Amino acid sequence: MTFDELNLIDPILKALKEEGYTTPTPIQEQAIPHVLEGKDLLGVAQTGTGKTAAFTVPILQVLHRTGQLQQHARGAIRCLVLTPTRELAIQINESFGAYGRHLSQIRHTVIFGGVGQNPQVQTLKRGVEVLIATPGRLLDLMNQGFIDLRQIEVFVLDEADRMLDMGFINDIKRILPKLPTKRQTLFFSATMPGQIQELAATILRPNPVRVAVTPVSSTAETVTQSVFMVQQSDKPALLRHILEDKGIKRVLVFTRTKHGADKVVKALAQYQIQAEAIHGNKSQNHRQRALSNFKAGSTRVLVATDIAARGIDVDELTHVINYEIPNEPETYVHRIGRTGRAGAFGTAFSFVEEEERAYLQDIQKLIKRQIDVDTDHPYVTTAVRPVSLHGTERIIRPKGPAGRPPRPGREGGGRGGNAGQGGGRPAGSSSQGGGRSGGSSRPAAPAAGSSADTNRRFGSGGARVQAGGGGGRRPSRGGEGGSRRGSF
Ligand code: AMP
Repeated sequence: MTFDELNLIDPILKALKEEGYTTPTPIQEQAIPHVLEGKDLLGVAQTGTGKTAAFTVPILQVLHRTGQLQQHARGAIRCLVLTPTRELAIQINESFGAYGRHLSQIRHTVIFGGVGQNPQVQTLKRGVEVLIATPGRLLDLMNQGFIDLRQIEVFVLDEADRMLDMGFINDIKRILPKLPTKRQTLFFSATMPGQIQELAATILRPNPVRVAVTPVSSTAETVTQSVFMVQQSDKPALLRHILEDKGIKRVLVFTRTKHGADKVVKALAQYQIQAEAIHGNKSQNHRQRALSNFKAGSTRVLVATDIAARGIDVDELTHVINYEIPNEPETYVHRIGRTGRAGAFGTAFSFVEEEERAYLQDIQKLIKRQIDVDTDHPYVTTAVRPVSLHGTERIIRPKGPAGRPPRPGREGGGRGGNAGQGGGRPAGSSSQGGGRSGGSSRPAAPAAGSSADTNRRFGSGGARVQAGGGGGRRPSRGGEGGSRRGSF
């Protein structure tokens, strides 16, 4: 399918072409026609699937169409997008700008906390049709009388599960009564725990269209992957050793928990390696600054948890290091998908200690691939044995929140999808030669723009959420997902 087949108007098609998009991602293909028809939508998808364009593109078209048909009070806010973080709010605002660049009559702006309100208020006074906001600042400006939501035609609640994680649910419940009941609502969440299903049921009209993107299960062939079997106590020194390679220009280091991220930054500081951490306990200002420094190249090492890293879209990210490998195998695919984008080559290293061998087994089964073991480093140990893709070893899962039982249907090779694309080195070989930064045996880049390529990068569609929303993915356990604040 191409964008031309989605009944989009020329100014939008032109903008998409200028962005370099040829093929809609699965969530775009599924969502755009329904949103254009004015339907309510429940989307189970996370950042990285092309979700933002899946709603901004049709909303622009709907607003353009209704704007031509009706007389609106000048400057009335006609679309509200609520999103949990400043980073996402900024990215969504940029998307409205990019895809709507040939629709000059649709003005948009973004408001968020942690900065002075005056410039935001001035822009609002001049009038905007689309407002992208984080909940706290929106309530604040509403309470001061600067924002009137009575003319809203389309309301988007983005990353609902993360709103819950960040304790925003009560803010949302205060905002909802200020919206007109006659409106179109689009609701997005990566996971659908019970509280989110209840929230969706109160916000959406009955029987919304449900679309879901099945989690990606294959890794990019442009990403060279290897694992380091290592003792837990040697991980900081191994990280320092790897970072000695100056060919590593920009690296995202993942941990499972916020505490773990802070510990990595501290450990690196002891080696005089400057790094910054982003996670849910850091202020918006700190996160924004750390991200800008990373994007600008002044910070080489960014340490992040999975939730905080959602939405980080950094060009030229050469390396991802899984300092702690994730206990959800799909998360591995998302993490390493941060590098090797748009045909560029990337490298993903994963540190695996004894307690993490079970997770490595899950990951290899999901991606249907044996990840090479790198033995070319000073911290090689025989105490942590490699994990064979086809072995019969029953690996004991660690106790506690991080160790989750295997899911039904997972054993025996993951959930289908176009995994196992080969192209890697033979199983068990160590990655020698060429240094860590340059790949001596790079797999070929896939052809860009094909549907198969789009599915691989953005997940595949078609999986519908069952009635009542019960078919969504489980919320991940451990890490940030475990600390749920707020209730409703
Ligand atoms: P999102 O999930 O909205 O954060 O999008 C993830 C990334 O995919 C962003 O960098 C988008 O610019 C990019 N993207 C979105 N839709 C497409 C598309 N149809 N083709 C290529 N890239 C896309």
